[in-house]
Order: sequence, then structure tokens, then C-alpha cells
Amino acid sequence: MPSFLLEVHEIRKHYGALEALRGVTFVVEEGELFGLLGPNGAGKTTLISILSGLLTPDAGRAVVAGRPIGDARSEIGLVPQDLAIYSELTARENLEFFGQLYGLRGATLRRRADEVLEAIALTDRADQRASTFSGGMKRRLNLGAALMHRPRLLLLDEPTTGVDPQSRNRIFEEVRRLNAAGMTIVYTSHYMEEVQSLCPRVGILDAGALIACNTVARLLRLLPGQIRFRIPHASDRLIHRLNDLPEVTWRRINDQRFEVSAYDVPHSLLRLASVFFELGVEPTEIEANEPNLERVFLHLTGRELRD
Ligand code: ATP
Repeated sequence: MPSFLLEVHEIRKHYGALEALRGVTFVVEEGELFGLLGPNGAGKTTLISILSGLLTPDAGRAVVAGRPIGDARSEIGLVPQDLAIYSELTARENLEFFGQLYGLRGATLRRRADEVLEAIALTDRADQRASTFSGGMKRRLNLGAALMHRPRLLLLDEPTTGVDPQSRNRIFEEVRRLNAAGMTIVYTSHYMEEVQSLCPRVGILDAGALIACNTVARLLRLLPGQIRFRIPHASDRLIHRLNDLPEVTWRRINDQRFEVSAYDVPHSLLRLASVFFELGVEPTEIEANEPNLERVFLHLTGRELRD
């Protein structure tokens, strides 16, 4: 039986008349890097706040390591969307403050702060105030604060908001490293590229409902990709061969341009290349587009993911 570190059952939350979460259910196995993708206002922060014990749901329950959230706080690390660090304290003082909240003291606390400073690449800025840091450095410190007590489950709420590309990559690297070292991570974002490249499995949240929950590979298979090419003088033989290609559909965009739709784009591209080669045809243009989570979201909701 798989060991679920996080179990979320039928969570509901209202703010007045607004139904922010409409019965959300999913599980995350120990060691997973799970993405929670959704547009602004989908309910991600509300859900993360419930999973970290900051907010109580109206109905449903969440269980971490077999215990209700209230009894499992020491297993959970939260990296909130809004920075939770103190700008007048140094990086080290911030980390030590958060470590103390979880009961770390003395040499253990100092050693752990050193390790975390190293991990978030702030060792050389350890004794400078957070107010002097760039946005990306503050984000890294925000992450570090959640790591001090070595949580088994790390909840990241849009950790790359307003971050420059270099710090963003540092955060990705750190998330991957923590996950490779065995930490279970729930990563929320409204950037589909981030979630697609970082998380093997994702849940898609829209208007308070989890409208899909699967591996990225399976979600992408919901839609075909397209191969477009241009051939100035297409012969009847080429048309026959296109008709014979298995597992694809194709259409002629105009006299010279063609579009092939295929669920396995690399495979179909190879077959197409061998047809061109056999017939001695050279396309003057060729381009392949595989589906992405953005298009999956559009397919599921009829709307763009971006606002
Ligand atoms: P974002 O990416 O913009 O932070 P989100 O997916 O995290 O969005 P939430 O912050 O959970 O979404 O908000 C879900 C819905 O609940 C939104 O319509 C929001 O306006 C509303 N909401 C959130 N917090 C409150 C609150 N304290 N009082 C009233 N409405 C709220």
C-alpha cells in the first residue's frame, strides 16, 4: 500500500457567500514533488493555509503523516506567498528566530542555521540585515525559514512571484535538491511552465474545484500535438502516404502548407521524415508543437490560464 504523507478529503471553505474551495480531495505520497496549478483566485493560498493549520476548513479534513494538521505542525514547513521574514534582522537572526519557534536551541540551532544558509546560498550575506537584500534573496531566506525544523512536508505558495530569473533558478535547484533528499513538496504556482518542468504530478485548481489531478505526462496526452510543414509542390504520392500514416490526422492548410495532428509527436515526426526521405521531398519549413499544461487548462475550462 502506498504511504500517503498528505491526505486531503473534501475540503470546503467559504468567505461569506464566496465558495473559495468546493470539496477538494487528493493525496500526496511521501517523497513526491506535487504541483498545484491554478489561475489567480483559484483557491491555492486558501488551501495551503488550511494545510499549514493557519485556517480551519468549513468541512472536510486534511491529514499529514496520519495525524490531523493540528497535531502534525512539526512535520510541516510553510513558505508563504507574502514574505514572512523580518527585515530588521540579519539572515542568520531570521533563521535562528524561526528555528527557536520549533524548539531548536544552542549549538544545534547555530549549526542548523549554518546548513540552511549554505543551502539557500546566503552564507556570505549571513550577518547582513534582510532589508538590504534583493527580492530574490528575500525569497530564498523565506524558504530557508521554513526549512529550519527539517519538515517532512514542505508547502510552497507561489515561491517565485516577483523573482528575477537567476533567483528563480536557484529556488528551482533548491526545490529539486530538497525533493531528491526525500522531502515531500507541494508547489503552487500559476506559471504552467514552472509546474510542468518541476513537478511530475499536478493538480489543477480552478474556481475552488480540483478539475484534474494526474501525472503531467498523462495530462499532456489529453491533447494532440501539431506538426506543420511546407512543401511547394506536393505530389499525389505524398498525399497517399499521409493518408497511410497511422495514429495521425492531417489537413491541408493551403496549397503548400500541411498540418499533422498526433498524440505522439516525436514518433510521428520520425515517420513523416522517413516518408519525405523515401519520396525525395524536402520541406522548406517544418515545425512541431507538443501540447503544454496551458493548452490542457484551456481544453478543460475553455479559458486561458493567464489573466
Ligand atoms: P492568487 O494566486 O491570486 O493568490 P489563489 O489561487 O491563491 O490566488 P486565494 O487567495 O485562495 O486564491 O483566493 C480564493 C478566492 O477567495 C478569491 O476569490 C479571493 O478573492 C477570495 N479570498 C481569499 N481570502 C479571502 C478573505 N480573507 N476574505 C474574503 N475573500 C477571500
